[in-house]
Amino acid sequence: MSTYRNALLLTLFACAIALSLFGGTETEWNGAQDIDGQINPGDDFYRYANGLWLKAAVIPEGQSVFDTRAILVARTSQRVREIILSAATAQSTKGSISQKVGDYYASFVDESGIEAKGMAPLADEMSAILAINDRLSLSAYLGATLNREVDGLTGNADHVFGAWINQSFTDSEHYVFHLWQGGLGMPDRDAYLDSKMASLRAQYQTHIAAMLKLAGVAGEEEKAARVLALETKIAQAHAPDSDAADVFKQNNPWKRADFAIKAPGMEWDAYFKAAGVSGQPEFVVWQPSAVTGTSALVGSEDVGVWKDYLRFHLIEHYAAVLPKAVGAEHFAFYGEALSGKKQMPDRSQDAIAGTNAALGQAVGQLYTSRYFPPEAKARAQAMVSDLMAAYRARIPSLTWMSTETKQKALAKLATLRVDVGYPDNWIDYSSLDVIRGDAFGNMRRAEAFNRSYNLATLKRPADPDEWRIDPQIVGAIILFSPNTETFSAGILQPPYFDPEGDTASNYGSAGAGMAHEISHSFDELGNIYDDQGRLGKWWTDDDSAKYHAAAAKLVAQFKSYCPFPDACVNGEQVLTENIADLTGLLIAHDAYLLSLKGKPDVVIHGLSGEQRFFLAFAQRWRKAQTETSLRAQIKGDTHSPAEYRSDTVRNVEAWYKAYDVTSSNKLYLKPEDRGEIW
Ligand SMILES: [Zn+2]
Repeated sequence: MSTYRNALLLTLFACAIALSLFGGTETEWNGAQDIDGQINPGDDFYRYANGLWLKAAVIPEGQSVFDTRAILVARTSQRVREIILSAATAQSTKGSISQKVGDYYASFVDESGIEAKGMAPLADEMSAILAINDRLSLSAYLGATLNREVDGLTGNADHVFGAWINQSFTDSEHYVFHLWQGGLGMPDRDAYLDSKMASLRAQYQTHIAAMLKLAGVAGEEEKAARVLALETKIAQAHAPDSDAADVFKQNNPWKRADFAIKAPGMEWDAYFKAAGVSGQPEFVVWQPSAVTGTSALVGSEDVGVWKDYLRFHLIEHYAAVLPKAVGAEHFAFYGEALSGKKQMPDRSQDAIAGTNAALGQAVGQLYTSRYFPPEAKARAQAMVSDLMAAYRARIPSLTWMSTETKQKALAKLATLRVDVGYPDNWIDYSSLDVIRGDAFGNMRRAEAFNRSYNLATLKRPADPDEWRIDPQIVGAIILFSPNTETFSAGILQPPYFDPEGDTASNYGSAGAGMAHEISHSFDELGNIYDDQGRLGKWWTDDDSAKYHAAAAKLVAQFKSYCPFPDACVNGEQVLTENIADLTGLLIAHDAYLLSLKGKPDVVIHGLSGEQRFFLAFAQRWRKAQTETSLRAQIKGDTHSPAEYRSDTVRNVEAWYKAYDVTSSNKLYLKPEDRGEIW
């Protein structure tokens, strides 16, 4: 549940991709039922809280992890599937979202209909590519392809450049056009340049040739080699991954006129006109080297090679709605060679993913009307409001922030917008035609619809109402710029959050998770974005020094955790997330007390409210994991292994009281050894 825009854009898409069918089991939640009564909570809280669950948990075949998130993804995928399938068989009113969702899906799974059309649907696009005869027409065509992914948010765009519409790094009032590197068929520059990846490159070249052949292009072997050579040159211009972590390197505002001067080669007037953004005065160029390098290649490389490159990427782009042979070849490279998958996904799975991609908020509307009613949203909003009040009360007492910095933190808290469940205003799909029996046309029209929708936002002031995640995704999106956090209906479900369930458990689980994410706005990740989401560090050096001094105890605490004799947790590597876990737990606990409004909580299953709060926190982290996966996590992940995240409770006095933990217990920490930052 951590998605950080700008530095870490990609996680959102990991969430979206994770929305696929997964073989988990659905169980009714009852926190007490998983407790292992043989274990003293003060000795091993994680196994006390999760003991019976851990004994029963089975990691599904082919997976390395099984946890609550996996269960929610499976459950939500199943629900989304049922919604889409029932829309496909319903006699819905023409023009309704149900008709559009149902017909989009039905067309997508109509394999014989798709087969019968062959490659004919590509004909007009292929002719447009064939008509390219110079740099000017090439630039215009490339500009038109930019249109298609105005809403793309990947590190490597489908077309030569990707675009995103958002406020700039310095102006929160207006949207601007962000431009970033793209154009590679393989995941990143290393795939092209690293000597260890030569065999993957050979497989990719074979794949390019096969796709060109399917598109009816003659001389495919030689052309594939030239396309790979062109992509390798584009890859050389790409910024290295290390740059992606530094948002200051991405803040490169270019005036419209700068492109011709800084990046000669492309006919930029034609490019931007075709992209529909010729009126934009300013762009934010995330990787100037890629824009400069790719533009130079438009000037220097043979137009014929570019045309082969474009034909290959065109067929690849539409592979899902073209005849079977194209889909199979697409899978041979992207599924087998690149991802090690053995079997092509079921057609209906692809169709569900395609429907979600084209009509995300339409599916979201159908999903929430069934599974996340207004009462659920109101309850989640009430929890957010308690969390915000808890933050407001805690910030003034922080010991490491100066008085001035606290004022800035409070100002940032005041402007932070936290959305839950689903948007107040849904996207209006009425101008999008979805026609049963026209899978290719539907995909194209949906892309065009999304393109116009996004381009229209450029003309409006920055809009805090805009949702960047679909409600049916099990995930959250944390944007530092603008200053917003969004928790979808998909993640706000039991056991994290039960709209009709126990308050103590909701606050200990989803509440602590949300408070964790909110804390990032005020920690080392968020301290470079101000209250309006503009770039600018608002901590002083002294705040920073005191923060790190205060964090030293947590570093030492986590270093002492060694799941294997030869592998201990790296306390520095996981520090930021551990601080967020502790902050989230403390804030959620404050918020829980606020929710009680001075009244005592009830006892359920023999557990007090305080006990259920901490129990839900420990259960939030339950996870079955292979040794390989755990070792990899210790080595590279910024999040601690699940058990130790659960043990965050050791730093919280209220936990000692709730479970009568004393110095005789294994998890006991002397007060002076407990982490205290918030
Ligand atoms: Zn985090």
